[in-house]
Amino acid sequence: MALDPIEEIKTRFDIVDIIKEYIPLQNAGANFRARCPFHQEKSASFMVSASKQIWHCFGCGEGGDLFTFVMKHESLQFGEALRLLAQKAGIQLESQDPRLKDEKSRLYDCMSAAVDFFHLGFLKSPRALHAREYAAKRGLSEDIIDEFKIGYAPGDENLLYQYLLGKKFLASEMLNCGLVLKRAQGYQYYDRFRNRLIVPIRNLHGAVVGFGGRLLEEIKDAPKYLNSPQTALYDKSRIVFGLDKAKYEIRKTDEVILVEGYMDFLALYQAGIKHVVATSGTALTVEQIRLIKRFTSTLLFCFDSDAAGSQATVRGIEHALSEGMNVRIIELPRTEDGVSKYKDPDDCIRASKDDWAQAVKDARSFVQFHFDRTMNTTVITDGYAKRKAVHHMLGIIRLLAERVEQDHWIKKLAQELFLSESVLWEELTKGAKQATQKISPAPQKVAQPKEQGQSIQMLFLSFCIRFPSMCQEVMNDIDNEMIDHELDKMVYEQFKNNQEPSGKECEERYNLLSLLAEKEYEFLSEKNALEIGLQLADKIRDEYRKRKIDELQTLMADAERTNNSEAVQRYTQEFSKLKH
Ligand SMILES: [Zn+2]
Repeated sequence: MALDPIEEIKTRFDIVDIIKEYIPLQNAGANFRARCPFHQEKSASFMVSASKQIWHCFGCGEGGDLFTFVMKHESLQFGEALRLLAQKAGIQLESQDPRLKDEKSRLYDCMSAAVDFFHLGFLKSPRALHAREYAAKRGLSEDIIDEFKIGYAPGDENLLYQYLLGKKFLASEMLNCGLVLKRAQGYQYYDRFRNRLIVPIRNLHGAVVGFGGRLLEEIKDAPKYLNSPQTALYDKSRIVFGLDKAKYEIRKTDEVILVEGYMDFLALYQAGIKHVVATSGTALTVEQIRLIKRFTSTLLFCFDSDAAGSQATVRGIEHALSEGMNVRIIELPRTEDGVSKYKDPDDCIRASKDDWAQAVKDARSFVQFHFDRTMNTTVITDGYAKRKAVHHMLGIIRLLAERVEQDHWIKKLAQELFLSESVLWEELTKGAKQATQKISPAPQKVAQPKEQGQSIQMLFLSFCIRFPSMCQEVMNDIDNEMIDHELDKMVYEQFKNNQEPSGKECEERYNLLSLLAEKEYEFLSEKNALEIGLQLADKIRDEYRKRKIDELQTLMADAERTNNSEAVQRYTQEFSKLKH
C-alpha cells in the first residue's frame, strides 16, 4: 500500500532544504539556526533540526514540522500546504482525499485542466496553426513551449467551458477561476480567452493561478493583451511572473532582471538568462518587491526603449528603494544619433547577445542614471533650468533609504551645479515635509513573543539531555514537583528512570528540549558543563523554595485569621525547614 501522502512528503524532503528556500540558515552543530521570520529579533533563536525534521523558535515559541512552517510562512490552510508540497515532490494526490475537498483545491484542479486544454490545443489542433506560426515568429523553442505549457485558446464561443463541464467542473468554479464569463442576460457562459496565445501564470511554487493571452489577429475592440482577473488564486499584487522558475538562479547570481511582459521574459529565459522575472505592465507592489527580496536585494530594471519615466515604473522603483534594495537600470543600446537600436529586451537578445551582455554590464544605479540624464540636459547657467534639475534630483535622493547614500549624492550634486551642500540639505528636508507621505512600507506583523527566553527548568532539562553523563550529579536534589510544566515533569521522570520518552506529546517535548540543548550548549565543553548544570539545579531549588514560602505565607495568614492554631504550628514547622 502506498504511503500516506503526508508521510511520503516528509520522507522526500529535508526540512532544512525547504526552510532554506525561505530564509538563510546557518550551521549550528548538527542543526541550523536563523533569525526568526515570525517575530523580530536581533539574535538567532530560530532552530531547525535536521535529524528530527522539526523547527522551533525559542524567542516566540512557534514551532512544528515542514507543514506548519510552510503554512505559517505562506499563510496557507493545511490542504493548500499539502497540495503545494505534493506538487513539489511530484506526488499525485488522490482527489478523493477529504483533506483536499476544500474549494480552493478544486479551483487549482480546474486551472490545471484548463492548462491541458490550451496546451494540447496549441500542439495538436489544426486550427492552432497561426498560434504555432506566431510562436515560431517570436522564436519560442519547443523546449520553452513545453516547459511553460504555452497554449492556444480557440476563437469559439465556449469550447473551454464545454471541456471543463465534461471534466465535472461547475460553472461557478470556472467563474471563480476567471476562465469564463456570464452574459448579463440569460444563462449563457462563454470563454474569457478566445483566439489567443496563452501563457500560464504561476505562483512561487509553480501552481497555475492565471493566464495571459496575446491576441492572434486583429479583432475590433479586443485588447492585444488580456490577463486573468483577480481571483481567489490569483492575487495580482503578490504574483511575480517567472519567479517560480527563476528563484534558484536569482539566489545563485544574487541579482534579478525585471522586464515588462512575459514575451520578454521568455526570450531571455530561452537565451539562458534565467535570473529574470516579469511584470505585466502594472506597477510593482511592495508585496512583490518583498517576495523578490527573499532571493536577492539587487534589482535590475530593464524597460522598453522609453518606459524609464513611466508612472508605473517609477512607482515600482520607489517601492524597491524604500525596501532598501539596490536598484540598477539596464538601458538598451542606442545608435550614434541616440535612437534606440532595439524595441525591447526580446528584440535585443534575439539580434545580439553581445549587445545585451554589454547593456547589463553598463547598468547604472538608479540615482546615477537620473544624475547623468539630468546633467546632460541641464544648462547650468540657466537659473530656472538649474532649479528644476535640483528639484528633480532631490526627489530621487529623498527616496534613498540610507543617509550615507543621500550624503554621497548631495555632495555630487553640489559640485556639479556649483551650489552649497547645506542649501541642498535644507531643500531636501523641506521637501520631505511637504511630500505627502510617499511610501510607507506596511508595518511588519510582529508576533508577540509567547515566552521571554527560556525558563530555567527547560534549560535544566535540556542540559540533562545534552550531558547525560552528568545527570546523576545535577539531578540529585531536583524532585519532579519542582518542575511546573506537566510535560516537562513527565519527560524528567522518564529521563530519570532511564526510559525512552514515550507518548507522542512527551516525544515532541523531548525533541524540543534537545533542540534547545543544541542552541544553548553548542559551544559548552564537557569540562565547564558540570558547573553550569549545578548552577541551574541551584536556581531551580531556589525558585521552588521561594514559591513554597509564598504559598506558606498565604496559608499561614489564613490560619491566623481563623485562629487555627494547630495549622499555624504545622506551617511554622514547614516554614523553618524551608528557610535553610
Ligand atoms: Zn520567533
